[in-house]
Amino acid sequence: MSNMCNILEYNRQFVDSKQYEQYLTDKFPDKKMVIITCMDTRLVELLPRAMNLRNGDVKIIKNAGAIISQPFGSVVRSVLVAIYELEATEVVVVGHYECGMTALNSQGIIEKAKERGIEDIVLDTLTNSGIKLHHWLRGFDNVHEGVLNSVRILRKHPLLPPDVPVHGMVIHPDTGALEWIADGYHYLEEQSSESESEEHSPSATR
Ligand SMILES: [Zn+2]
Repeated sequence: MSNMCNILEYNRQFVDSKQYEQYLTDKFPDKKMVIITCMDTRLVELLPRAMNLRNGDVKIIKNAGAIISQPFGSVVRSVLVAIYELEATEVVVVGHYECGMTALNSQGIIEKAKERGIEDIVLDTLTNSGIKLHHWLRGFDNVHEGVLNSVRILRKHPLLPPDVPVHGMVIHPDTGALEWIADGYHYLEEQSSESESEEHSPSATR
């Protein structure tokens, strides 16, 4: 039986036996958070359990590596929707050790695409259209760098409300142990004390 048939067969009894009742909630995140994390299979159940998250608690955005590669891509759009439309007030980027996006070999992916039938002319056309495949398929050198870069892009985003803390964390994919590597509360405090001291500095009062 195919995966899809298995899913549908299971689904029928899931719905018939009303197992959904334990998950009923609404679209607003009770913990007012939006989490950006990796699609890694080890995190599917582990991350919510390790962070004490239940259905209805948070918005979760996933991709390979929890990477925000551009300020006006779909990940940041999702973050903004969570904040402006769904009452999220805090953002957390959660990378993980042993991530497949660490030192991802873009050349290797391109070679595999060729082996799977993607012709050189297609790759040439993309390159000639200005698409930097090697850059686009790149991951990060280590997970800390990846998380901090995503945090940086969010913190300086022109459409992110200035009072929204953006945190960075790293989770261990076996134990679920978390490290808090970028403290969004502290960053906001620093920002506000910097702007206060600018207001009071002689150079700002001309
Ligand atoms: Zn990963």
